Amino acid sequence: GARSSAELIRAEDTAVAHNYHPLPVVVARAEGVWVEDVEGRRYLDLLAGYSALNFGHRHPALLDAARQQLDQVTLTSRAFHHDRLAGFAEGLAALTGLDVTLPMNTGAEAVESGIKIARKWAYEVKGVPADQATIVVAGGNFHGRTTTIVSFSDDPTARDGFGPFTPGFRTVPYDDLAALEAAVDETTAAVLIEPIQGEAGVLIPSDGYLAGVRELTRRTNTLFIADEIQSGLGRTGTTLAVDHESVLPDLLLLGKALGGGIVPVSAVVGRREVMAVLRPGEHGSTFGGNPLAAAVGSAVVDLLRTGEYQRRARDLEAVLVEGLSALTGRGVVGFRVRGLWAGVDVDPAVGTGREVSERLLAEGVLVKDTHGSTIRLAPPLTITVDELRSALSALERVLAE
Ligand code: PLP
Repeated sequence: GARSSAELIRAEDTAVAHNYHPLPVVVARAEGVWVEDVEGRRYLDLLAGYSALNFGHRHPALLDAARQQLDQVTLTSRAFHHDRLAGFAEGLAALTGLDVTLPMNTGAEAVESGIKIARKWAYEVKGVPADQATIVVAGGNFHGRTTTIVSFSDDPTARDGFGPFTPGFRTVPYDDLAALEAAVDETTAAVLIEPIQGEAGVLIPSDGYLAGVRELTRRTNTLFIADEIQSGLGRTGTTLAVDHESVLPDLLLLGKALGGGIVPVSAVVGRREVMAVLRPGEHGSTFGGNPLAAAVGSAVVDLLRTGEYQRRARDLEAVLVEGLSALTGRGVVGFRVRGLWAGVDVDPAVGTGREVSERLLAEGVLVKDTHGSTIRLAPPLTITVDELRSALSALERVLAE
């Protein structure tokens, strides 16, 4: 017969690499904000695939787009044109206000691609001497797991044992414009930052920081690369987190929700003059921009162009703030909220983030800790007020234990 959750977890333990430490739940089905395990227990999904599921599990419009495309063509490689790519890129341009899309698959690939474009731009346009380009990044960053990306992580768990590292990066404290200004010089190709640091615990920079980064990069002829792989596509109540300060980066990195929780889809969307440094043969990906990815990505763009999801995130922010304020001093020692996204610092006396996550699991709510005693709440943007309140009640019960 079918294997139980416990049996499947034991089997995974033997057959799958231990690069994750999942909560002990084995999901077998999902719809909207709900997932169901092998035994039929239901859980509210407040992680939403690290924001890859902004539209919930199996959104009907996204499933339709995928199903229709499965009946047409799924893969051509970029050796040939296909009939879905232009529309996808046009949609992204209209959504973001930028010009040109480089389609990739995973977030880390979008970051790597942004780095390559910035370096090439530095040599060809800015006039940085060969192999001298630097990219300034922020402490506490999370941009992915490739060897180059972990080279500029300051998380020992992400880095240790994976050297030698890629040179050419300078790290400054996040949310510190003076430090950024001091680090930028004539070799600087780009400043690469997350407009809100997700993995670091939903750290929101001070008002004016993003506008300051934009002003500094413009003044110093340096590119501004915004990694909106987690913060973008509706999560914060606007299409992009940079919209909160009405700034447009030179290169925008998108991923996660761009694939609708169905297929991996990422992109660098950038200014035409910058993207023009890439010429045939210099960069690519077998699967990047494939017809299925482009069809689902276009459907995601269509959902976002209605503005409905951004509005939902904006409206539900108040419910999160109200609920978390009520818990402050009662197990919560601090929290940060923007849109439908919260970093919640739990009193270490109550338990670690992991322990709180496990207790929430027992209450039928899925979350994941980030660092130490911080948990992140990032439900699908389709969650109802009642569902969100019930999740906050579960958190209240767990913290009172
Ligand atoms: N950048 C940010 C801000 C992220 O949050 C993530 C993933 O969590 C990535 C990049 C990497 O994306 P992926 O896991 O798809 O490679």
